[in-house]
Amino acid sequence: MEQFDVLIVGAGHAGAQAAVALRQLNFPGSVALLTDEADWPYERPPLSKDYLAGDKSFETILLRPTEFWTSRAITLLRGLRVDLIDPVLRTVGTSGGLTIGYGVLIWAAGGAARRLSCTGHHLGGVHTIRTRADVDVLRGELASTRRVAVIGGGYIGLEAAAALSKLGCSVSVIEMQDRVLARVAGEPLSRFYEAEHRAHGVEILLQTAVDCIEERDGRACGVRLGDGSVLAADMVVVGIGIVPSVQPLLDAGAAGGNGVDVDEFCRTSLDSIYAIGDCAAHINRFAEGRRIRLESVQNAADQAGVAAKSIAGTPIVYDSVPWFWSNQYDLKLQTIGLSLGYDEVVVRGDVAARSFSVVYLREGRVIALDCVNATRDYVQGKALVASGALVAPALLGDAGRALKSLV
Ligand SMILES: Cc1cc2nc3c(=O)[nH]c(=O)nc-3n(C[C@H](O)[C@H](O)[C@H](O)COP(=O)(O)OP(=O)(O)OC[C@H]3O[C@@H](n4cnc5c(N)ncnc54)[C@H](O)[C@@H]3O)c2cc1C
Repeated sequence: MEQFDVLIVGAGHAGAQAAVALRQLNFPGSVALLTDEADWPYERPPLSKDYLAGDKSFETILLRPTEFWTSRAITLLRGLRVDLIDPVLRTVGTSGGLTIGYGVLIWAAGGAARRLSCTGHHLGGVHTIRTRADVDVLRGELASTRRVAVIGGGYIGLEAAAALSKLGCSVSVIEMQDRVLARVAGEPLSRFYEAEHRAHGVEILLQTAVDCIEERDGRACGVRLGDGSVLAADMVVVGIGIVPSVQPLLDAGAAGGNGVDVDEFCRTSLDSIYAIGDCAAHINRFAEGRRIRLESVQNAADQAGVAAKSIAGTPIVYDSVPWFWSNQYDLKLQTIGLSLGYDEVVVRGDVAARSFSVVYLREGRVIALDCVNATRDYVQGKALVASGALVAPALLGDAGRALKSLV
């Protein structure tokens, strides 16, 4: 039986960074990075952006050159899926019947794209975007695709809509709520992005439910909407969130539900098992102290650092200001903080000139900013969010006043 001092399950942003961080901390033990994907660790954000649009090759989105992993004595085990964890014997069981022992286990398995459950969800031409393989299959069908229906007006759905319309497809976005990005952003940002997409020829259907996927010859040919009408489509892209990949951990007795619960050191309730990244449900002071999962590269990397430091014997607690970005067309959105529970919104800058920020306040304190083509606000706003600054809305709304002067 193979045995590693640290076994990391999942080689996405969190798992790969944990391995890197352990070596940067001069951790002397054996480290293995195990993934069910066939590829070397790669960046996920380009999958709905430049990689989908064909502007970046796969080689340019690798997290590290392939030789990096051997040069750092990190064993990469690809194409293996962990289905079973024995926290007493400290072993995992993988697809193919392999048993691997661990001293410490880092669970960094992320999540799987949530799929539709309606009739037709399994048809050819229905896609999700989570892995490189997903995008390669999708891109392989583009030559015979004219009309695309994107289900879900969140970041991934909107980024895919932007990339696919740029490639010449006629795109419709179907969103159940009354605005896009409703789960993550305030109304001014939603309305701005709706207008931008429409200006690029993308149809945005709001308050629109999906009844089923229509079939012709085993493939999707349209989406039947809640009102009975059918939106013709050669391809359907589903962007309705993820389901955290934690079942083996929960089966082994770890506390959790929506993800696996971790403490401020990213430790699960099971001895010597950490969880990091999209799958880790942690208490976050930027979310009013609620237990949440964050789906961002920042969170994956920062939690990886926290777990690695704890394992290397120099523990720190996780207390990062959340940040995120999204690229659509020539718009660079950068967000800082979490806008959960805001009670006031201030827009600063020039929406018409496509350079502005939306500032979110709760009880007078700045809790988050969404900055569109406004990197200075993003950089300077971080201190306001980190300190929960009390700032008069009129001052925040004055774009001539630098945010750093308000800290
Ligand atoms: C299309 C897309 C665009 C995005 N854009 C942005 C963006 O612009 N900015 C941003 O901050 N974030 C973005 N994100 C989110 C970001 O990519 C994730 O938050 C990040 O990848 C999380 O890293 P992770 O390591 O926790 O999970 P993942 O990256 O999902 O990695 C988990 C890995 O574990 C593997 N795995 C799962 N279960 C098992 C198992 N049982 N055994 C073995 N291996 C397993 C998975 O296949 C996967 O390879 C985007 C995500 C997607 C999908």
